[in-house]
Amino acid sequence: MQTTRKKQRIAILGGGVSAMTSAFYLTSYPGWKDDWEIDVYQMGWRLGGKGASGRNRKHNQRIEEHGLHIFLGFYDNAFKTMQDLYGELARSPGEPLAAWHQAWKPTNHVVFMEQIKGEWKPWPVTFPTRPGVPGDASQPLSGWGYVQTMLELDRRVVAADRPAHRGRRRRHRSHGRRGRLDDPGPPRHLR
Ligand SMILES: Cc1cc2nc3c(=O)[nH]c(=O)nc-3n(C[C@H](O)[C@H](O)[C@H](O)COP(=O)(O)OP(=O)(O)OC[C@H]3O[C@@H](n4cnc5c(N)ncnc54)[C@H](O)[C@@H]3O)c2cc1C
Repeated sequence: MQTTRKKQRIAILGGGVSAMTSAFYLTSYPGWKDDWEIDVYQMGWRLGGKGASGRNRKHNQRIEEHGLHIFLGFYDNAFKTMQDLYGELARSPGEPLAAWHQAWKPTNHVVFMEQIKGEWKPWPVTFPTRPGVPGDASQPLSGWGYVQTMLELDRRVVAADRPAHRGRRRRHRSHGRRGRLDDPGPPRHLR
């Protein structure tokens, strides 16, 4: 006698990145359709949550979003997910954003702003480039490696603000006197 297994119903609440990641990995299990029925509940029609963005036709197609979103190079799980997702999408090379690395623009140079006594103070930081490709966690940092990385970042932030360094620093066109232009640009394989 044939028995029919009752499918388990799964509700994913919200359509932000955490919900979509859950949906992506749940539907990556081989044969998931035999066991699960998955529904995503999102208020309104737009997926993406705080990471959603769109164009406003009434205002010259300007981009509207919750805020600029950056993936730091050590977001290995996030990059791995995007790589798996683009792999599954299998876009042909001529299509826009055909591969995951076309959807991100690598940069090492970041300027944080802080308001001190009513005046905006820029903190330019040039982050070091990690070896390898983001998403490849095959060379994780050791505990001591994290400490060294933090100390190096501290050194860069302090160095950016020390008067002795100001004379030697090259000027950045858009960020005034504090910016530096020693951004090495994207790794060669991403250019
Ligand atoms: C201005 C800004 C800049 C940021 N910059 C960065 C960055 O550079 N790098 C980075 O890593 N992170 C950044 N973040 C954080 C990042 O956006 C969030 O951590 C991430 O989007 C959270 O995703 P989430 O899926 O958990 O939640 P959300 O993105 O908030 O998604 C929740 C979803 O659930 C829906 N929802 C809520 N209630 C209900 C309901 N009752 N029924 C159905 N649907 C519901 C919402 O409409 C929404 O779509 C930034 C956040 C902001 C606001």
